[in-house]
Amino acid sequence: MSLLDGPLSARRAGPEQEFGHDALIVCDNLVRIYQTGSIEVQALQGLDLLVHEGEMVAIIGASGSGKSTLLSLLAGTDAPTAGRARVASWDLMSMSRRERVHYRRHAVGLVRQQTARNLVPYLSAAQMVDLPMTLAGVPRRERRSRTGELLESVGVAHCARRRPAQMSGGEQMRVAICVALANRPRVLLADEPTGELDTETSGEVFGALRTANSQLGVTVVMVTHDPDVSGQVERTVAIRAGRTSSEVLRRSTTGADGEHRVVAEEYAIMDRAGRVQVPKDYREALALTRRVRLALETDQVAIRPDTGA
Ligand code: ADP
Ligand code: MG
Repeated sequence: MSLLDGPLSARRAGPEQEFGHDALIVCDNLVRIYQTGSIEVQALQGLDLLVHEGEMVAIIGASGSGKSTLLSLLAGTDAPTAGRARVASWDLMSMSRRERVHYRRHAVGLVRQQTARNLVPYLSAAQMVDLPMTLAGVPRRERRSRTGELLESVGVAHCARRRPAQMSGGEQMRVAICVALANRPRVLLADEPTGELDTETSGEVFGALRTANSQLGVTVVMVTHDPDVSGQVERTVAIRAGRTSSEVLRRSTTGADGEHRVVAEEYAIMDRAGRVQVPKDYREALALTRRVRLALETDQVAIRPDTGA
């Protein structure tokens, strides 16, 4: 019996739409290989990811798993080796140099991993937020009101005239978020924005990202190590060895007792070739090795150890 003759054959989908046609961000089989001398590092090894407009997504994963690489590709500061990446109508593979400049200035905002790299030591917060708008030719009056509004919205209006050295780490990061938002991008990318901060300060920075998402309508993709942070977003995507491996979706429900609860459900990611990563603890529990048996049942696919029978 072929796998498709089973009970599910009647449910086969119609003609296939382009992968992620309705998503704002599409990464399709994305590959990035770094070449240093004779050594090749495959930072991304066929990563698939879809993010829809208005989402706030946390990316988690071990150090070296490719998180920063993914963000640099989406930010347009680096280009993929192979695969497809699209943000809104921008094709990140085939952008010209001029388009790339426009894309980086208007379509996305990036907050880099090291706080200091986001800021200019001799400029005040207001001057730093003003700068990208000046480069984009925004009139002075509009620049001034936008700068005031942005700093105010994330609680750092009092830092307007301060230079980075006169601000705390959390204030610096929130100013960096304002700089990234200055030209009204549709997407805000933040690479471990709370990585160098204590719990309270990291809550303030997370709040700033939340504000960008819920009040300004910006789609947010953030990398984080912090379970406190990833536990607060509706969707967490885990990257393992340059590929998306699993996702946790959270939704709040109200129980019979009227109490609000957040329900978290973990999903494995299946790529378009049908590959799924089976978590290590599952593999170990049933001693699943190189060869397993797949069985199609009415409402599930079972994976069983190869008993050699
Ligand atoms: P993460 O942010 O998840 O820690 P990165 O995306 O920074 O991971 O790195 C993924 C892999 O690519 C690592 O093995 C890293 O050493 C390598 N890498 C990242 N950037 C470069 C680069 N510019 N040149 C060579 N190798 C790199
Ligand atoms: Mg990183």
